[in-house]
Amino acid sequence: MKPVSRLIHPPPPAQAPARTVNPVIQKGSTVLLPDAAALYDDESYVTYGRTGLEAHEALKAALCDLEKAVAVELYPSGVAAIAGALLAVLQAGDELLMADTAYKPTRRFCDRTLARFGVRTRYYDPTLAPEAVAELMGPQTRAIFLESPGSLSFEIQDVPALADQARRKGVLSLIDNTWGAGHLLKPLELGVDVSIQALTKYVGGHSDAFMGSAAARDPEVAARLHAGVVDLGWSVAAEDAYAMLRGLRTLDVRLVRHGQSGLEVAGWLSGRDEVAAVLHPALPGAPGHGVWKRDYGGACGLFAFVLKPAPTGATGALLDALEIFGLGFSWGGYESLAIDCDPQLKVRSFRKDYGGSLVRLHVGLEDSADLIADLETGLSAYRAVRG
Ligand SMILES: *Cc1c(COP(=O)(O)O)cnc(C)c1O
Repeated sequence: MKPVSRLIHPPPPAQAPARTVNPVIQKGSTVLLPDAAALYDDESYVTYGRTGLEAHEALKAALCDLEKAVAVELYPSGVAAIAGALLAVLQAGDELLMADTAYKPTRRFCDRTLARFGVRTRYYDPTLAPEAVAELMGPQTRAIFLESPGSLSFEIQDVPALADQARRKGVLSLIDNTWGAGHLLKPLELGVDVSIQALTKYVGGHSDAFMGSAAARDPEVAARLHAGVVDLGWSVAAEDAYAMLRGLRTLDVRLVRHGQSGLEVAGWLSGRDEVAAVLHPALPGAPGHGVWKRDYGGACGLFAFVLKPAPTGATGALLDALEIFGLGFSWGGYESLAIDCDPQLKVRSFRKDYGGSLVRLHVGLEDSADLIADLETGLSAYRAVRG
């Protein structure tokens, strides 16, 4: 070859690559096939890089094991996983039953995009008995979507009973399993068809990468999810797949710490005079505690509390006084975060009066005594406004 061609086709290294503990961050659009017959043999070969290479495959295998799935698909974000899974199983004329406490962007996707393609979304009260939810399933109902605990207000759903009711009616069940991180709750083992999570949160664990996953236990459902990813052309970066895999290694120890500290903070808040209620399913006596104990292997660091009624500005004063808790959306990283939830509750169909302002906390990996001291400062700022 001429020098110009040799720049493109240099000789291979003399030694085979060393084998490391972690997979290679293999980057590539083009995949080289061994012979002409392999070019169109999608069954035996990866023929193009879009669906993932070494780090992606390692992550998918690990997530299959975590979720007890036959297959897992990766998506560029948690929202993309929710949208992708719904698009893969629904068609025009179908009705979707959606938990009223679902993550707000899930709702936006249903009301805006699914509606445009002729799929009707009916919201159901997540505190309804499973038999009452079953009564909502009509001939058009193709799928039911669960989120347990519910976003912001932490209602625990009876996941196995709802999955069972759906199965009897020939309705597919899907769940947003981000709170359980695939580790604290095993929806597929409880009879749910598709378990979705935002890996962005606890699996990533460091607030620095987006990704979502959808896991299925039935090969036919898995094939539909896969076709959906292929048709929509979704792809995730090898570096991000690697970051998620690294997060998985410490998921258990981090969740134990998030869970313990979260309960300490929740317990402290429940004894405070300014607090009307703490919405944390792992707190004894909380709504849904029995079902949580039956189905979940533990708690993460995300919960909410209700402040006693106060003049406008009191909740803002509390949040503004916090120094360790950052003010920001998302959760699942090492850092503690707080938001007020009230503006997000307005879109709900079954609006509950919590009797005061709802504040959501993500308890991170800091020392819980520091977090409690920070909240103490916040509560005094709140009292100063409340009088
Ligand atoms: C954050 C979140 C998502 C979406 O994840 P992104 O990666 O940010 O798109 C989905 N569901 C729940 C419950 C979430 O908290």
